Amino acid sequence: MDGRRFLVTGGAGYVGSHLVLTLVERGAEVVVMDDLRQGHRGAVPPGVELVQDSIADRRRLAEVFAAWKFDAVFHFAALSLVGESMRDPLRYCSENLSNSLAVADAAVKAGCLRFVLSSTAALFGNPKVVPIPEEAELAPTNAYGDSKLMVEKALGWADQVHGLRSACLRYFNAAGADPQGRIGEDHEPETHLVPLAIGAALGTRPPLTVFGTDYPTPDGTCIRDYVHVLDLADAHIRVLDRLEQASVRYNIGNGTGYSVKQVIEAVERISGRPVPHGFGPRRAGDPAMLVASSARLRQETGWAPRFAALDDIVRTAWDWHSRHPKGYDDRG
Ligand code: UDP
Repeated sequence: MDGRRFLVTGGAGYVGSHLVLTLVERGAEVVVMDDLRQGHRGAVPPGVELVQDSIADRRRLAEVFAAWKFDAVFHFAALSLVGESMRDPLRYCSENLSNSLAVADAAVKAGCLRFVLSSTAALFGNPKVVPIPEEAELAPTNAYGDSKLMVEKALGWADQVHGLRSACLRYFNAAGADPQGRIGEDHEPETHLVPLAIGAALGTRPPLTVFGTDYPTPDGTCIRDYVHVLDLADAHIRVLDRLEQASVRYNIGNGTGYSVKQVIEAVERISGRPVPHGFGPRRAGDPAMLVASSARLRQETGWAPRFAALDDIVRTAWDWHSRHPKGYDDRG
């Protein structure tokens, strides 16, 4: 990666910061653009330029692309909560679409024709085939998923018309943290299962509520495919070579599903503590089961997860949260 330069929007956020760290470790030069609404200054490694502005600001985007010549842009900055998207769907659709298109437009105008999109398994809704291949029907059950689908479609046109090569990476459930403990997951509000279960075990958060126990799964709770955030980061770097030939779409997960109850058990095993929890109704927009087929990614890029086991993923998350119970603690 030596000598290559990348823009990472949302690079102070959870998945983005793990990519930034990986890129820097591999010798790349990185510029982060993040308004720190959700991201953290402490998540950006020393030596990385942080442009603290919103990607909604098209003039600023043009300045950033003009000031540095980027080999590619990794676009993470977005609203990303399923539940919130079902309370405010119009905001999700408009903000995620218009901001992503602003970044893509600035990239095209600056001649930066490699674009990697942080996309989502939420594109697939309730899939008919599991594990889910890339060809599966795209039928989101929530506005967040649909907002990303709109972006993917627009990127297809940008390729056809402007030659903007894009990799749309549909993550399943990102989890875990840098095993060296430098960065981790810190959302406010936190809505994700693994950090909430760990917080309940630590006593830093209230008891967990399991959303729905009447799904058509063996134990009645939702099944998801948890993939380590550093394995996601590695996939982002591997797809760059593919972009030299054509635009690509990949599903990224470990290929094994775990229920909410199994995640709770894993946190109890790793932490040696009970996870206080109760049971509540379903959360709007949640499909019963999302498990990835990452066969295409594996075959075409040689990707394989380093953290395939749920316990290994949970352990890195536990290490981060137990050492940083207040996260980055930068909210003043
Ligand atoms: N979940 C839950 N209680 C919580 C948060 C999440 O039961 O407090 C469930 C949620 O319904 C889903 C799974 O845990 O089935 C993973 O949810 P998360 O929000 O972490 O990720 P998502 O699948 O929405 O991307």
